[in-house]
Parts: sequence; structure tokens; C-alpha cells
Amino acid sequence: MRVLITGAAGFIGSHLCERFLREGHEVIGLDNFLTGTPDNIAHLFENPNFTFIKYDVTNFLYIKGDIDIILHFACPASPVDYMNHPIHTMKVDSVGTLNTLGLAREKGARYIFASTSEVYGNPLVHPQPEDYWGNVNPVGPRSVYDEAKRFSEALTMAYHRQHGLDVRIVRIFNTYGPRMRINDGRVIPNFIYQALKGEPLTVYGDGIQTRSFCYIDDLVEGIYRVAVKEGLGGEVFNLGNPEEFTILELAKKIIEITGSRSGIVFLDRPQDDPDRRRPDITKARKVLGWEPRVGLDEGLRRTVEWFRERV
Ligand code: UDP
Repeated sequence: MRVLITGAAGFIGSHLCERFLREGHEVIGLDNFLTGTPDNIAHLFENPNFTFIKYDVTNFLYIKGDIDIILHFACPASPVDYMNHPIHTMKVDSVGTLNTLGLAREKGARYIFASTSEVYGNPLVHPQPEDYWGNVNPVGPRSVYDEAKRFSEALTMAYHRQHGLDVRIVRIFNTYGPRMRINDGRVIPNFIYQALKGEPLTVYGDGIQTRSFCYIDDLVEGIYRVAVKEGLGGEVFNLGNPEEFTILELAKKIIEITGSRSGIVFLDRPQDDPDRRRPDITKARKVLGWEPRVGLDEGLRRTVEWFRERV
């Protein structure tokens, strides 16, 4: 198959490119390097099945030749990044989604949209199943991301309903692993960096808020299954690891795994920071036969190893 991946130089995008190439597909990667980096894909350039185009997907988009699958994964995903680039975040998940959906229609391609657990906002239902509608502040600082993702989901479904486009939406919960930007501001890169440097780990609030962390290889397996399986048009899947931890537990784990002598400092909690988050992955288990295999300890060990060489 010939596959177009936007956000190809990002953390998840670069792993996805690798996966599709490994399965023998041809991959066209697009990225404007707003938060992604050429380092993530440099090793793919010698692969004759890989083409890279430096491009901002919010501009009119056309690619020559057939395309079988489009995966729209371009978008800043760390709260720090999307609050630093609020307007571009909204553009890439509105105009960028429109452009990629238009291209999918033109090519008769299957379309996979990278959505997020943030569509559930600060959830009132726990754990979160796909049919929960969410609790999002439409004018808060996170809304640039949450509402753009929700708009993109609606637009994706509109193309499915009006044009019969074969679309699938993946709602990605917190994911971590090699190739995250060490300074992207998310909790795992922050804590690992701080632990390796011997600096105090910055826990926001009292640290009793929870997240469920999925190792990148598990996530990519889930996305790949959603992308290649027949008969999933119009379906939405939560993808994430249902093991839930408090942020304080995470901090202690990272101190232990790195063997660091860092302490912990408690800083102000960001506005609208969700209190709890855990995916209900019943649907992915049943329909895709998928579930995560890498536990947090093992995943953190692999991630720390990667970061150690770069800090
Ligand atoms: N967090 C923290 N210290 C940090 C970075 C994040 O305590 O240095 C907390 C943050 O307040 C949130 C959780 O960790 O409760 C996860 O934050 P992250 O930015 O990784 O992603 P989110 O899940 O909020 O999108």
C-alpha cells in the first residue's frame, strides 16, 4: 500500500512510518518540524520506500499518484507545546484535517485521524469508554487542543456520512517512549530529565491526579491494526494502557528506576488539568484483539536507557 503520514517526524509519527515500512508498504511522510525533528526520521531516508516532504499541512495539499491510507498525525501534543502554539494547533486540526480529508476523498483513500483522550476533558465518567461525550472547558487554555480534536472528529465523521469515506478515529491516551522530546514539557520526559540531572522532580499540585501510560510499541501496534483491518469505517477506538497511576507514584518510580538521588518539589497545578484518566479498552480488545503488553516499569526502563544517552 501507499501510505501518507502527516506529523511523520514526530514522536508517534516516526514510529508509525517505521512500522508501515517494516510491513513492506510505501510511506510518504509530511512534517513542518514545528515540534517534530529530522533526527526522528534520519535513519529512514536510505529506505527507497520512504519519501519525505517538508510541508505544513494547513496549506493546500496535493500528492501525485495513488494513496491507499492517510494517517493525520500532525499536531503539537504536549500541553506546553500546544499552549505555546495555540493558533497553529487549531489550524492543523481544522484546516489540516480538512485538507487531508479532501485528499483522501480525491484518492479514495482510507483515513485515520489521531484523536486524543483530551476529547473527554476532565472526565466525569471513569474509566472513559468511547461513548462518553466528555467534559471540556471550551474557553480554557487546553481548549485549543481539545476543541480542535473534537472539531476534527466531527469533520471526519461528516466525510464518512456525506461522502462514504472509510474513516477511523483513534483516541490516543498518554503515550511515552524513545523519541519524545526531552524538553517537550510532558510529565515522563520532565521527570526522567530531572532524575538524570539530579534535579528535583516537579510534581504539579499534590500529585494525586492520575494518568495511564502506554508504551509506544503497544500504541503503534493498536494504530496499525485499526489502519489495516477491513470493515471499520466510522469506528472510534480508545488506545492506551488501562493501568492507572498517580503522578506521585510515577515520580517515585522514575527516581527508583534511574537510581537518582533527586527529591520531589510540589508546584502549582496547571488550569483545567484533568484529575483522572484511564481508557476503557474493551472495544479495542474485542474488535482488534489488541491490548498493551509492556508494563510501566519495563517501558520506563527502555525509555530511560534512550534518554540517558541524550541528556
Ligand atoms: N505534570 C507534573 N509535572 C511535570 C509535568 C506534568 O506533575 O513536570 C503532571 C500534569 O500536571 C498532569 C500529568 O502530569 O497532571 C500529565 O501531564 P502531561 O503534560 O504529561 O500530559 P497530559 O496528560 O496532561 O496531557
